[in-house]
Amino acid sequence: MQALAKTRPEPGLWMERRPVPEIGPDDVLIRIRKTGICGTDIHIWNWDDWAARTVPLGLVTGHEFAGEIVELGRNVTGLSVGQRCSGEGHLISNQSRQSRAGKFHLDPATRGIGVNEQGAFAQYLCLPAFNVVPLPDEIDDEIGAILDPLGNAVHTALSFDLVGEDVLITGAGPIGIMAAAVARHVGARHVVITDVNPDRLALAAEVTDVVPVNVATQDLRDVVAGLKMKQGFDVGMEMSGNQAALDQMIEHLVMGGRIAMLGIPPGKSPVDWSRIVFKAITLKGVYGREIFETWYKMIAMLENGLDVRRVITHRFDVAQFREGFEVMRAGSSGKVVLDWG
Ligand code: NAD
Ligand code: ZN
Repeated sequence: MQALAKTRPEPGLWMERRPVPEIGPDDVLIRIRKTGICGTDIHIWNWDDWAARTVPLGLVTGHEFAGEIVELGRNVTGLSVGQRCSGEGHLISNQSRQSRAGKFHLDPATRGIGVNEQGAFAQYLCLPAFNVVPLPDEIDDEIGAILDPLGNAVHTALSFDLVGEDVLITGAGPIGIMAAAVARHVGARHVVITDVNPDRLALAAEVTDVVPVNVATQDLRDVVAGLKMKQGFDVGMEMSGNQAALDQMIEHLVMGGRIAMLGIPPGKSPVDWSRIVFKAITLKGVYGREIFETWYKMIAMLENGLDVRRVITHRFDVAQFREGFEVMRAGSSGKVVLDWG
């Protein structure tokens, strides 16, 4: 089969011929139809310090996918050949206290496909049947291929009650934009999204009903005043990984405000903890998605009017994967989806 692998310790990914994976008794074999390119894949392409530390050379990359089950391990029940699916890319153990309590997304032994284990940028993927998420007919393959990052957005957005609340999202990358759409869908009042990239803010406004703010040129205080909020935002979602954005969020939150933090700062970054204390702010770190509650809720919302299709700005045949990665690396696109035929 064809597979996009990290075979050399330098920028790039290379299309290789690999054997079709052999599945174990509890696995399924999935024929991949569409994959999404993630920021994580860009780190791996660039071979930055994190990637060099984390990713074994030779690995097939990719973790955002939709496809069709073509083979079932002998112990697998409840799934069938021909079934369309996506799946959770975090492989977990059933040993830890968290897993045994049903909090699978908090298992410290989690391993990621396309990061630690063979990934989905290939014609076939072997996945534990436990991780498979069947797709209803209403969700086509390209949306199926972005359920992983949509899951990040949904998990973050559903961290706190948003009904009637004023929400600030810092970072209008694909995940921030999808989180804005989710916040609107579940009944937030004002949703303000910030970025320093006008293309991304324009995309946010195309995808959903938000107030886009370019913090490089606009003062967030004026926006808050214009929206007639009394003190500031009730809930913040940090989706940029940028220190200045987090500072700004803390400044513009109400007393007792809540922050869900998905963005990954590049290293240690200073925080004015006294402001968190005096404003009595609740800060929640968000990792991945809840397995499988987030999947359940996101599919239900997609079946009931949540529309994130416009966040997909580019589609390429997998033969043109280099163009796809260049578009993503330029930093102004939404999601880029590759078609595996
Ligand atoms: P992205 O890099 O595409 O988007 C981040 C955006 O933040 C960019 O558009 C950038 O211009 C913007 N930004 C930079 N400085 C800013 C500032 N001062 N104020 C406001 N915005 C600013 O990222 P993404 O793919 O949408 O992912 C969002 C974040 O979530 C990233 O940090 C990513 O690493 C992280 N992430 C975390 C998890 C997790 O499990 N915790 C999973 C996926 C992604
Ligand atoms: Zn991803």
